Amino acid sequence: MTLINENYKNLSDNYLFAEIARRVEAFRQHNPQANVISLGIGDVTQPLAPVVVEALHRAADEMAFASSFRGYGPERGYDFLREAIVENDFRARGIDIEVDEVFVSDGAKSDTGNFQEMLSAGCVVAVTDPVYPVYVDSNLMAGRTIVRLPCTTENDFLPELPDEHVDVIYLCYPNNPTGTVLLRDDLKAWVDYAIREGALILYDAAYEAFIQSEDVPHSIYEIAGARRCAVEFHSYSKTAGFTGVRCGYTVVPKDLCVGLNPLWNRRQCTKFNGTSYLAQRAAGAIYTPDGKRQVRQVIHYYMENARLMRQTLSSLGFKVYGGVDAPYLWMQVPEGTTSWGFFDDMLHRAHVVCTPGAGFGSCGEGYVRLTAFGRREQTLEALERIKRM
Ligand code: PLP
Repeated sequence: MTLINENYKNLSDNYLFAEIARRVEAFRQHNPQANVISLGIGDVTQPLAPVVVEALHRAADEMAFASSFRGYGPERGYDFLREAIVENDFRARGIDIEVDEVFVSDGAKSDTGNFQEMLSAGCVVAVTDPVYPVYVDSNLMAGRTIVRLPCTTENDFLPELPDEHVDVIYLCYPNNPTGTVLLRDDLKAWVDYAIREGALILYDAAYEAFIQSEDVPHSIYEIAGARRCAVEFHSYSKTAGFTGVRCGYTVVPKDLCVGLNPLWNRRQCTKFNGTSYLAQRAAGAIYTPDGKRQVRQVIHYYMENARLMRQTLSSLGFKVYGGVDAPYLWMQVPEGTTSWGFFDDMLHRAHVVCTPGAGFGSCGEGYVRLTAFGRREQTLEALERIKRM
């Protein structure tokens, strides 16, 4: 008889985006003439940078000839990309990361979801609430106990250090969904905690490229001691519009107090056959001078959306968090309504879609997430409609 992993029964129905789609579809059925604008999507809307497209074309042409064809690549990624990552994302910031500590992947979702496989089932795992659901679900599938660290207006969305021992801590900064950040001292407190407790920090830096403020760390390795206690995940998805191309990377330092670098290598060699050559060439192009400039322009475009959204929504009296160093805004809904209630209200009255905060954890109740990834004209139109609402 085939038995299933009973832990899957502990997963809640992943209904957030399905439920949003269902409600939007029902609304459209009744209002076929309505032009619904989404400020809820987590996907990007701007095309790939020209250097990236050129790199993809060149790589495709190489595949057309036996002399330059590439098949399976190195599991950890091609050296040209790992060297560019080390040089630009770390050495340029004074951080020492070695090339064989970098593992190129098809994105941060796979890596943040898979990394827990190497940890014992008995590990106690801490996550923030609200949270990017992948950290929770992947650990529930493995049967682990999860401790939630509330992030609310009371603590300025800064999770407090757990008052019990935890073995693993997921931190995501700049944060999805709240758009808030940790300053250097805040992050140092976590690194000190992890070293004291022998805990591992799994640091998701998927939105690091959106940081504008000087005092916000781009990498946890800017903090002394982090090489002994932290793994860091990166993604090109939002940074460079790679949601459809698929590429990211994970840094697993060799001086972690537990020897995870060889274990992650072993895991990847067993279960992952590498990121496509085309995607890696595309990612490599981002590190050229033109690439850096073009990618910065797109980030600037989204952050200008975020600024306009913050400005308008604050002037309407909404309490808005995030959106300064992150493409997400976390908005408190008016008293007396719920995050789903506000979602319905905004859909029906303004024809604008947001993401109910309750979908990211119980502390998300009372908030909605808005994203700055829309097209400018649609974002402005959505703001006009909210004004009239
Ligand atoms: N980590 C966070 C916090 C995210 O919000 C996302 C995507 O929305 C990811 C990881 C996944 O990124 P990727 O597209 O690289 O898999």
